[in-house]
Amino acid sequence: MKDLREGVCRAADGLRDEIVELTRELVRIPTVNPPGENYADCARFLGRHFVELGLEAEYHVAEGRPEHTEAHPRLNVIGVRRGAGGGPTVHLNGHFDVAPAGGGWSVDPFGGLVRDGRVWGRGTCDMKGGLAAAVYAIEALRRAGVRLAGTVEVSGTVDEESGGQAGVAWLAQSGRLAKDRVDYAIIPEPLNVDRICTGHRGVWWFEVETRGRIAHGSMPYLGVSAIDHLGAVLEAVRTELQPELAKRTTRMPVVPAGSGRATLNVNTISGGQAGQAVQTPCVADRAMAIFDRRYLVEEAYEDAKAEVVALLERVRSRVPGFDYALNDRMLVYPTETPAGSPLVAALQRGIREVLGREAAIVASPGSYDQKHFDRIGGVPHCVAYGPGVLELAHQPDEWVAIDDLVASTKVMALAILDLAGPRHGG
Ligand SMILES: [Zn+2]
Repeated sequence: MKDLREGVCRAADGLRDEIVELTRELVRIPTVNPPGENYADCARFLGRHFVELGLEAEYHVAEGRPEHTEAHPRLNVIGVRRGAGGGPTVHLNGHFDVAPAGGGWSVDPFGGLVRDGRVWGRGTCDMKGGLAAAVYAIEALRRAGVRLAGTVEVSGTVDEESGGQAGVAWLAQSGRLAKDRVDYAIIPEPLNVDRICTGHRGVWWFEVETRGRIAHGSMPYLGVSAIDHLGAVLEAVRTELQPELAKRTTRMPVVPAGSGRATLNVNTISGGQAGQAVQTPCVADRAMAIFDRRYLVEEAYEDAKAEVVALLERVRSRVPGFDYALNDRMLVYPTETPAGSPLVAALQRGIREVLGREAAIVASPGSYDQKHFDRIGGVPHCVAYGPGVLELAHQPDEWVAIDDLVASTKVMALAILDLAGPRHGG
């Protein structure tokens, strides 16, 4: 067994140039989201690559999703290598959409430059490098002559950056990435090459609208200012709710540590007349704010919502004429890999062997597609593990280290071997 593991690592070393080349080729397809450019080109390119490596390629169009349009089709691709039988299915999933490049680059964001032991460009870190490593983890096992008992799969999916509804969520709803077909899932998001990420907090975006009464701005006392009332809400959030949330910490090892508690951010405010428009003297009869509440696995969404309703009712009791509406904008449940998961143990062992140090177990400050595997697909044994550096995601001059690409390829291959490998004596 030790020889086999060494053989797999040697095979991954031999694939170094190919891993780099696949990363570069993926970066050169600008799959910018929004709006979701070149998805079909990227999925078909990956599918052809899968076939060249001896995998079966499946294409899954997100039919029925409103974001799936003729101009911007939502096409997902899965590569499959069937096992000899009797083993679990391990699925490696990477999103191939990338955030817009933005400004501040010193290299071509879609050029795939290799320099200083790194591949540079939008998506190298988040997460085309991780996707390339996943593809070659499967190939390293083949090159090492391993016949797996279990099936191993790799998918390239769309729209993670915008919520994943036409990507992993859609594949989970359709039953393809769900518990009958997948036992373990690894998502090579950039959480650093020696860290295993076991989940994320919940997300509740909500909108508070305050409603006043319009009047002439020279006689504001004859109206009711929705902006003043929204100000009262923001003040209550700042002095009453946020200090309360800051006291709540989670058992999940969220990094950075500041996100290891319940948090609330105000995404946007608006009210009254548009700022650019010619103004008339009016008391604002409407104002609104959108809030981003990150809630803990120890909290319930219903309780988080009840807490906000209670706060708004307190404001109502203090402010004459206060009237509001509260609306949900988005809800993401928290997710956490079960304690003692064999998937985590397999990756820990791989990291120890490949990098010579203990893996750190972390949770992500933001959410990613793990929620869909868990909450929709019923696949709780899911983690993020991949080669990129977390802080570089969505930044200008994004890069991924080639040594980390190869190391994570080995770690994923060894983990697959542990989970789905040949039976002892078989
Ligand atoms: Zn990502």
